[in-house]
Amino acid sequence: MKRLRQAPDAIPVALRDVVEYRKSGLSLNHVVGCPLDCGYCVRHLFANYEMKQPHLIVDDEEAVEILVGHWAFRPSITPIQVFNRATDPFLPVVKEHLFRTLEALDRRELTNHVLVITRWQIDREDVLRLEKLSHIRLTILVTWSGIADKRIEPVDSGIAETSLETLSKYVKRSKVLLYWRPIIAGINDSDSHLSRAAMLSHFAHATVFTGLFFREEIRKHFRSIGVEDLYDDVARRKIFPEAVERRILESFKGKNLFRKTSCGVSFAHDVADYNGHYGINEICDICPVTQVEICAAAHRKPKLEEVRKIAQLAGLSGDVIEIDERRIAVSDSVEQQRYFIQHTLNYQVHDKSLPHNKYRHGRAEIGWS
Ligand code: SF4
Repeated sequence: MKRLRQAPDAIPVALRDVVEYRKSGLSLNHVVGCPLDCGYCVRHLFANYEMKQPHLIVDDEEAVEILVGHWAFRPSITPIQVFNRATDPFLPVVKEHLFRTLEALDRRELTNHVLVITRWQIDREDVLRLEKLSHIRLTILVTWSGIADKRIEPVDSGIAETSLETLSKYVKRSKVLLYWRPIIAGINDSDSHLSRAAMLSHFAHATVFTGLFFREEIRKHFRSIGVEDLYDDVARRKIFPEAVERRILESFKGKNLFRKTSCGVSFAHDVADYNGHYGINEICDICPVTQVEICAAAHRKPKLEEVRKIAQLAGLSGDVIEIDERRIAVSDSVEQQRYFIQHTLNYQVHDKSLPHNKYRHGRAEIGWS
């Protein structure tokens, strides 16, 4: 294996921290740097976009020790993501680290969900190695957008298409998602994009669709390379206009389509959604009936005392907690505190200062009336 260079001292502090709590779980990122140049990459937000070569921050075994020793980690409960922030896990120089990390988790006999997101090439040998894992609940999410404008996305979507096909041929135990994103109005939402996605969905256990994360840093990058603004404004949450969603739902009728990543993952593994989206019931109107039944059976409104105890473990004051049939509402929280409570209880947790509006949970207001 070609050895990765150690990350330079100048790497941003946020990236030195190899474990971060994100919505889909504890995220492990001990390799940083990517040559793929997707224009909308979140590395713009970490001032890391210019690092084109992957670098190692700590070795794989140490990284796994840090992860399982994290205050929020719960064996067999906390969902995990590997290399989803600052590199692609299937790049030739990165994938050995991916395998070793997954194998180190598996040796500990953990049954946590593990999500691996890629747009890169996956070979038969890769899948066969993944299939040797026997404890972790592994999901490979293959990002595909069909975007042809190389300034926005230089990577050919054909690579993801071939990976999906290879996965579908050889997986038995692992699950595969078509991760259809970012869908951008006027760029990759034509009828031919929709029918291509529908065809590709046959290679996956489920399809999850989502919009564009359009923050100021990302708009600035696009302007600097001459791409006209993709939307009129930037937003904290992903942008996904109502009209685009309507057309997608119409074209995917009868297919296993999900608005939320955790819903697609949970469906693929035959378990209830670990993010508790069932409380936000309008999300479920496209979900297969059998899955709705699984989530309904698991849905339980937690007691205030129980929430308070868990909130305190996360360092959050329990004085201002409210619970209704949809979600737990807290105040003055940070994301990792909310996600820890959410994953522990399988119940949505929102901060009162950042409310989610009906029918656009997790989405920006742009494109909605
Ligand atoms: S029933 Fe609702 S919460 Fe459960 S997986 Fe389906 S969409 Fe998600």
